[in-house]
Amino acid sequence: MIDLNNIEIAFKIRSNRELRNAHFLFSMIKSPFLVRLLGFLSNLALQMRLPIAWAVKPTLYRHFVGGETIEECFPAMDRMFAENVKSVLDFSIEAVEKEAEIDKTFQELKHSVVNSGKHEAIPFGVFKPTALTTHNVLKKVSSGISLNPEEQASYDNFVQRVDALCSEAVKAGKPIMIDAEDYWFQKAIDDVTEEMMLKYNKETALVYATLQMYRHDRLDYLQHLIQLSKTHNIIIGIKYVRGAYMEKERARAAEGGYPSPIYPSKKDTDDAFNEALRISVENCDRIHVFCGTHNEESVLALMKYMKNKGLPNNYPSIYIAQLYGMSDNLSFNAAKAGYNVAKYLPYGKVRNVLPYLVRRAEENSAIAGQTTRELIMLKQELKRRNSGN
Ligand SMILES: Cc1cc2nc3c(=O)[nH]c(=O)nc-3n(C[C@H](O)[C@H](O)[C@H](O)COP(=O)(O)OP(=O)(O)OC[C@H]3O[C@@H](n4cnc5c(N)ncnc54)[C@H](O)[C@@H]3O)c2cc1C
Repeated sequence: MIDLNNIEIAFKIRSNRELRNAHFLFSMIKSPFLVRLLGFLSNLALQMRLPIAWAVKPTLYRHFVGGETIEECFPAMDRMFAENVKSVLDFSIEAVEKEAEIDKTFQELKHSVVNSGKHEAIPFGVFKPTALTTHNVLKKVSSGISLNPEEQASYDNFVQRVDALCSEAVKAGKPIMIDAEDYWFQKAIDDVTEEMMLKYNKETALVYATLQMYRHDRLDYLQHLIQLSKTHNIIIGIKYVRGAYMEKERARAAEGGYPSPIYPSKKDTDDAFNEALRISVENCDRIHVFCGTHNEESVLALMKYMKNKGLPNNYPSIYIAQLYGMSDNLSFNAAKAGYNVAKYLPYGKVRNVLPYLVRRAEENSAIAGQTTRELIMLKQELKRRNSGN
């Protein structure tokens, strides 16, 4: 098994200053109080349109985000690509509701997909489906509630926009991933993703669904997708993640009086995640995999399944991925060992990226063990550099 914790490889592209900044940031994030305060202040700033860029940009933003535009992401992208780590440019925008704003987002996403075709360092396009219509419409369609004519027009537009992005991805020659978000939108998103896979995935996986494995119905859904692949002779593309909205989902379920869609324990989620990877590698002729995780055990499990199946490390239809600014030890060590590795590189204006940044801070604060590990590794590397070893 390969060593995913070689710190020299992990931080090769980072300057001492960047390491010191990262160390400071993760020390702050470790405090649940400071992270709660950040969540509160960000909400306030967004609601009251307070200027916050001066505080966020040199700190959280610089660590977790590529820049405001695609072009601003190029330096980060090039530095990672020099070490064989590719970038998935992720346009960050949350909760747009007005048609004009939705259309603006759609144009930027199209630009992003077209751009993916121009760079070897960008292996995939990606988009958040909730950016392409209103939450109300996705919620109603997911719950089987009929739409009024205006909502129906918005839904038809949504399907057309998703189709247009997939079609641009086909032209660019790069697959496209459709992110997963809140449970109450997901049925509508799954349905349209299946429709796109049936249309575009005949010879290879150009459209990828996202499966959040903290949901207790996702292993069954994986079997459904395998069946779909057999019946229609298509290749299924799947991005696996654990899921980013656990607390919100549980609270909503309790409030709405329906059973929580999330597994009761972390171990259940971990087991389901690894089992989905195992099944996918077993069925690698039918399923292309993008494994999005910072969990070292899951990365090692995937590597073991590949080895058992006799697949080379660089097997083209299996990717390992992390978010920019997190778990560089996994990304750069896996890439060094020849695996296909990518990092999600978000870009966008500070106000639009803010909810993403708060989620990253909350996540890192919740996973105390992981943050501590990041801190230890950063400290070790700074010490190693200072001692000249
Ligand atoms: C490349 C990439 C793309 C991503 N895209 C998406 C996306 O499209 N949609 C999305 O929702 N998220 C996405 N994420 C975020 C992801 O879902 C996780 O929130 C994040 O990666 C943390 O999980 P982990 O596997 O890295 O680490 P771990 O630390 O091993 O797992 C933490 C996760 O485990 C689960 N968990 C924790 N405690 C419990 C519990 N008590 N019971 C049940 N489950 C529990 C939660 O999902 C939690 O986020 C993405 C992540 C990456 C790396």
